[in-house]
Amino acid sequence: MDLGIKGKRAVVCASSKGLGLGCARALADAGVDLVMNARTAETLEKSAEKIRSDYNVSVTAIAADITSEQGRSAVLEAAGDVDILVTNAGGPPPGLWQDWEREDFIKALDANMLTPIALMKALLPGMMVRGWGRVVNITSQSVKAPIPQLGLSNAARTGLTGYVAGTSRQVAEKGVTINNLLPGIHATDRAMALDGAIVKKEGISVEEARARRAATIPARRYGTADEFGAACAFLCSQHAGFIVGQNLLLDGGGTNATI
Ligand code: NAP
Repeated sequence: MDLGIKGKRAVVCASSKGLGLGCARALADAGVDLVMNARTAETLEKSAEKIRSDYNVSVTAIAADITSEQGRSAVLEAAGDVDILVTNAGGPPPGLWQDWEREDFIKALDANMLTPIALMKALLPGMMVRGWGRVVNITSQSVKAPIPQLGLSNAARTGLTGYVAGTSRQVAEKGVTINNLLPGIHATDRAMALDGAIVKKEGISVEEARARRAATIPARRYGTADEFGAACAFLCSQHAGFIVGQNLLLDGGGTNATI
């Protein structure tokens, strides 16, 4: 399917690896020029170069912490006029409700709620003036069904979801859509780190930890970054202009709910 976005310009945050990289690659495949970002310059440049050579699109790589004001300024300055924004950042650490202090919540809110909000505040006005824009926020299945050990994520991402629900309906008349993608378990470094925490806690092998987690998913496997990226690219496409303020679960059926 032609997504109709060839020649558009996208910022994809936290995109040297994992789900962000999956989104960057899928957008590049649709002919979108990219501004990619991550903290580690070497990994980022490697991923950017691979995309340039695979898809022949322009890629600007900005090594910066997107959760810092300085990092966001660097990305926004390099980005200029942007048609598509994909927000993403590392997820908060696991733990239990009694472990976390105010500082832990502030960090999680900064990374997974206030950073995407700041980026939207900066880029939505230009999209609205130009009469076209797409924003996709990478959140988590924890928004639909809380994950006990990821309370910081449950809290911060639900805050972002409320913001998107209201804001998306205020910008839609200008041809700008905002939607959220909710990953369940995907085979990325983040998933491996969470597997590692189970290995440590339960004293089992990595294979056993993965098999146990895969068994909780009706599809009986982890998702892939390519599948995730394809869904992101569709939400950014010309065909998705009537999809407004939605939360799309990509979890292999893991969230047991009727709607
Ligand atoms: P990942 O494989 O660990 O990749 C994270 C990417 O983000 C890397 O490119 C990393 O590069 C970059 N990054 C992290 N923190 C950053 C920051 N502060 N500023 C800029 N770049 C940053 O993670 P993932 O699995 O793709 O997860 C992406 C998001 O989806 C996370 O928020 C995660 O919690 C959420 N999620 C993932 C899953 C899953 O199963 N994978 C499920 C639910 C939710 P650098 O380290 O070099 O910065």
